[in-house]
Amino acid sequence: MGSINYERLQGKLNILADAAKYDVSCSSSGSTRKNQGGSLGDASKSGICHSYTEDGRCVSLLKILLTNHCIYDCAYCTSRRSNDTPRAAFTVEEVVELTMQFYRRNYIEGLFLSSGIFKDGDYTMERLVEVAKLLRTREGFNGYIHLKTIPGASKELLYQAGLYADRLSANIEIPTKSGLALLAPEKSHEQLQAPLQTVKEEIITIKESRKKHKSAPKFAPAGQTSQMIVGASNETDLQVIQLSSHFYQKYDLKRVYYSGYVPMLSDSRLPAVGTPVPMVRENRLYQADWLMRFYGFGAHEILEPDDPFLDLECDPKLAWAIRHREHFPVNIQTAPYEAIVRIPGIGIKTAKKVVKARRFNQITLEHLKKMGAAVNRAKYFIATTGKNEHLAHLTRDNFRQYVLAQTQTKFKDQRSGQLALF
Ligand code: SF4
Repeated sequence: MGSINYERLQGKLNILADAAKYDVSCSSSGSTRKNQGGSLGDASKSGICHSYTEDGRCVSLLKILLTNHCIYDCAYCTSRRSNDTPRAAFTVEEVVELTMQFYRRNYIEGLFLSSGIFKDGDYTMERLVEVAKLLRTREGFNGYIHLKTIPGASKELLYQAGLYADRLSANIEIPTKSGLALLAPEKSHEQLQAPLQTVKEEIITIKESRKKHKSAPKFAPAGQTSQMIVGASNETDLQVIQLSSHFYQKYDLKRVYYSGYVPMLSDSRLPAVGTPVPMVRENRLYQADWLMRFYGFGAHEILEPDDPFLDLECDPKLAWAIRHREHFPVNIQTAPYEAIVRIPGIGIKTAKKVVKARRFNQITLEHLKKMGAAVNRAKYFIATTGKNEHLAHLTRDNFRQYVLAQTQTKFKDQRSGQLALF
């Protein structure tokens, strides 16, 4: 460790923290803590991001690539081998040193480590595992570690990774097989999903053995996640959420992350430079994802094949309610929890409160407001003594316009710079 050249390390850090920002498996925090006398730069430039641990705590992580050298040439990636970009690679010891330095200075609570692929999957994965192993076994590092699994890495290395890391993730990158074949012909969905299957099997095996032997090692206790790039190919939102739904069921993922594509590279296969996917599309996908994970919606309910894109002006729960007025108005005094939680403007906590409170009281809009509901939205979908009767005759489109006009707010899309409705 004594032989580390900190000036060179700073140069590598600038390149490899910047290259890591395209991975949204943990989001950038915009942290602005300053370096306190050391020579390793301040927190924001060095890629501090936030993530959630096994017990739900939000932690700040040092987010870097081991290297941005890569043998692959994925069209959407700035690290692709044909891109003329400054390259760098950390040694294993450098990442360990950097993590410990940041940790001791209280800049971070953990490490998010990904990498371009040098030589092959195993060669790269071995080094990621070595970082985690040295941090845990030599440095006594007890912080959070999130490792990317590398396509093509052996099962044995994935097993080792799970012994030292809290969370593992494998990016599916492009949601459709045809999109991936066009943009990254050296890869396949099967290859990218293989680590998810291996990690899922190991998590189950180790959970079982820990039931019998408390001393059995833990394996990726914060589970596994995946990420898709949205808008680099011409996939529909329906295809995206169907794939997510499949992943949640098949691989028991903790999260799927959606990364709106920001065109940086000129390539006829990609959207033109300067035409980023609006952030609102990402937001709508996260809302749809939330509906699938917590509200009991199936992907097929959120979108249908004849209209396969999310309504950018309207959140997916409201859009579903507008399409399915036959389910409304809901009588919140008598309806089951499952129907109440589908009312736009009523979340899980409020729905539970309603079910509890209605045993003793008649629930009014005022009560709902106090319970945390967005009443300005919910009131169009609740049976309230004839107040919505004048809306019953409206066509679906007119009803949509009416409700949106009463409930929407305008905001500036940070990515496209345009005004959008939310
Ligand atoms: S393998 Fe990963 S790092 Fe390499 S070009 Fe493809 S997406 Fe980028």
